[in-house]
Amino acid sequence: MTDTTDRTGPGTTLADLPLREDLRDEHPYGAPQLDVPVVLNVNENPYPVAPGIVADIAAAVAHAAAGLNRYPDREFLDLRADLAAFLRVESGAELAPEQVWAANGSNEVMLHVLQAFGGPGRRALSFAPTYSMYPEYARDTQTTWVVGQRTDAFTVDVEHARAMVREHRPSVVLLASPNNPTGTALPLATVEAVLDECSRLSQGAVVVVDEAYGEFRRSGTPSALELLPRHGNLAVSRTMSKAFSLAGARVGYLAASTAFVDALRIVRLPYHLSAVTQATARAALRHSEELLSTVGELRTRRDETVRWLRDVGFEVADSDANFVLFGRFADRHAVWQGLLERGVLIRETGPAGWLRVSIGTADEMQQFRTALQEVVSQ
Ligand SMILES: *Cc1c(COP(=O)(O)O)cnc(C)c1O
Repeated sequence: MTDTTDRTGPGTTLADLPLREDLRDEHPYGAPQLDVPVVLNVNENPYPVAPGIVADIAAAVAHAAAGLNRYPDREFLDLRADLAAFLRVESGAELAPEQVWAANGSNEVMLHVLQAFGGPGRRALSFAPTYSMYPEYARDTQTTWVVGQRTDAFTVDVEHARAMVREHRPSVVLLASPNNPTGTALPLATVEAVLDECSRLSQGAVVVVDEAYGEFRRSGTPSALELLPRHGNLAVSRTMSKAFSLAGARVGYLAASTAFVDALRIVRLPYHLSAVTQATARAALRHSEELLSTVGELRTRRDETVRWLRDVGFEVADSDANFVLFGRFADRHAVWQGLLERGVLIRETGPAGWLRVSIGTADEMQQFRTALQEVVSQ
């Protein structure tokens, strides 16, 4: 454990405090935040918000600031309506504002899901390798974490998924699609098979398809939003952190049945979404087309990066996201370190031997390629 001695207080250490037993050996989660020239480690959009949109967001925040003596709109139905309108344009989904939920990043949305549907004596199921935050939501809500395995191609085998649902009887199933850190999108048939198996469980289960990278999916890859009209226990989560270039604003959301959303409303803290956040998100959504205008270019560069990595001899996972998982390295840490020494920060994550690189600007990807060739030719 890191040194947690309180140097400003009476010398208390974490061991002196009644921390929950199951948190004793845990560490705060997060990728290194290092000040280097080329940051390609947390799947952000490399393009900052354009000046005109910044001005509109600033004006909206100024307007909200004039009312900050009051608590914000607890139900934020205006923002939920704006998000529903966006999903209608993006995926053709017909959703009422009451079918949309939002929170401080989809991380908090997922925590709401686990608070409402997980808990002691219950199980959450996913398929590894997948998003490393999922087991943390489970831990924090004292939900038992159960994990199946993805195939060698990082997809989810339908029979394995069905068997895991039957055996473990989860109350929550989390399916990332496109998956992080592999970039793999799931066919809707897989999601439907999981929904079908869950419908056979006597206590029922909810299924969350995490589409944090949905906007980057290749053409022909469907969104699970299509399945919502037929499944009241399904939710599709999205975020403004990735394609929208708005990671700093902390806005994530999901679409589901009204009943599903009503369950989340029970566990959310009152006023969890600040007036500043609501104003920021609504102003950004007025410019969604311009904000998402970099997505096409990033997808093209993603496909080019996959091709280049394969051409120079790496193994590369197919990607529907704005990052690429590649390998394999006998000592991936040495490669990660070598890139860092050349000013390029990527992510040491996923199965042993693999590394993940986010798609940056053309110049950043050139620096990544040059650095990688130097490192591996040593
Ligand atoms: C980045 C990411 C998110 C989004 O997190 P936010 O809290 O919205 O920033 C959600 N799910 C996955 C799989 C991610 O990689």
